[in-house]
Amino acid sequence: MDTPAVIVIGAGLAGLVAANALADQGRACVVVDKARTPGGRLATRRLVGLDQRTARLDHGAQFFTVRSPDFAEVVHGWRRAGLVREWCLGFGSGGDGHPRYCAEAGMNTVAKFLASSVDLSCDSMVKSVSRRNDLLEVTMTNGDVLVSDSVILTPPVPQSLVLLDNGALALPTDIADELGTILYARCLALLVTLDGPSTVPDPGGVQLGLDDHPLFSFVGDNEMKGISDVPAVTFHVHDEPSQHLWDSPDAEAVLLDAARPWLGNRTVVMSELKKWRYARPITASAATHIGVEFNEGTRLVFAGDAFAGAKMEGAALSGLAAAEYLAG
Ligand SMILES: Cc1cc2nc3c(=O)[nH]c(=O)nc-3n(C[C@H](O)[C@H](O)[C@H](O)COP(=O)(O)OP(=O)(O)OC[C@H]3O[C@@H](n4cnc5c(N)ncnc54)[C@H](O)[C@@H]3O)c2cc1C
Repeated sequence: MDTPAVIVIGAGLAGLVAANALADQGRACVVVDKARTPGGRLATRRLVGLDQRTARLDHGAQFFTVRSPDFAEVVHGWRRAGLVREWCLGFGSGGDGHPRYCAEAGMNTVAKFLASSVDLSCDSMVKSVSRRNDLLEVTMTNGDVLVSDSVILTPPVPQSLVLLDNGALALPTDIADELGTILYARCLALLVTLDGPSTVPDPGGVQLGLDDHPLFSFVGDNEMKGISDVPAVTFHVHDEPSQHLWDSPDAEAVLLDAARPWLGNRTVVMSELKKWRYARPITASAATHIGVEFNEGTRLVFAGDAFAGAKMEGAALSGLAAAEYLAG
C-alpha cells in the first residue's frame, strides 16, 4: 500500500517549513489552512491608493533574528530567492549590533514562497481530528475527510486541543497536562497610512518596554523599512493593554491618539485595528515539538512557536523538528 500523505494543519511558518522538509525527504503531504491565504502570523496588509501607489504594512511579525545554524540554512534559501534582507542592527541609539532581517515585500511573501512548492488548500478549516482504526482522520467544516497515519498540528495549542476534543481523541495524561499549560498573550495592532513621512527615527523601528510607553511595544515605519511605497506605520500594543482594550469600541481612537507623537502633524489617510487573539505564547514548552505515537506508525505531532521559541526562528525550528520526528 502507498504511504498516505502527511496532513499538516496550518500554513503558518511552522507548517510550511515542515511541509517543505517532508517534501525534501520525498514524503508527500497536504497542508490545510482555514485562512484565505497562507502565512498565519506572517501577515502583510496591502492597500492600493487612488494614485496606484501601494501601502504595505506588516502587522504580525516585523523582523526576525537568526541564532541557530539550522534556521540560518532556511534563511539562506530565502536570501537566495531574493525574499529577505538585513534591515538593521537593532533599534535605539546604535542598536545592539545583532542583525534584524525583514522581507523585501512584506513578511507574507516568505509564506507565499514556502507555500508555492507544497500541496496547499486554503479556506479549509479543520473541525476535528480523531482516530479511525489504525489511522488519523481529519474532518473539515465542509464535511470533507482526510485520512493519514501522520498529522502535524501547528495552530496555536489551545486551538489544536479543541480539534482533538471535537474528535474525542484522548492524549496521554502527561502530554495533555503539558499542552494544557501553554497560554498565549493577545496583541492589538494599529495600522496607519499618512500623507507624509512619520517621525519614527532611523532605522524605522522603535522597541518599547512598559516603562518606556504604557501602550506600545513596537512602532514600525513600513516605508522606512523599505516595504511600502507610501508612509505607513504599524503600532503593536503590550499584552496587558491589548487585553484591556480588546472589546472596547474606543480602542482604535485611544490608540490613534497615543500614536500622535510618531505621526507628527501628518494627516491620517487610513487606519485599521487588527486583533491577534493568539499573538505570543507566554508559557511555552521546553521541547521543540511534542509527538504522540498511538500504535506503530500512527503519529500526531504538535509544532509551532509554542515549542522552539516564541518567534519566527522558533516556529521554523519546530517545523523542522516535527518533520524529522515523522521521518524517524
Ligand atoms: C503582533 C505580532 C508580532 C510579532 N513580531 C515578531 C517579530 O518581530 N519577530 C519574530 O521573530 N516573530 C514575531 N512574531 C511571532 C511570529 O509571527 C510567530 O512566532 C510565527 O509566525 C508563528 O508561526 P506558527 O506557524 O507557529 O503559527 P501561525 O502563524 O499562528 O500559524 C498557524 C496556522 O494555523 C491555521 N489554523 C488555525 N486553526 C486552524 C483550523 N482549525 N483549521 C485550519 N487551519 C487552522 C491558522 O490560520 C494559521 O495560518 C509576532 C507575532 C505577532 C502576532
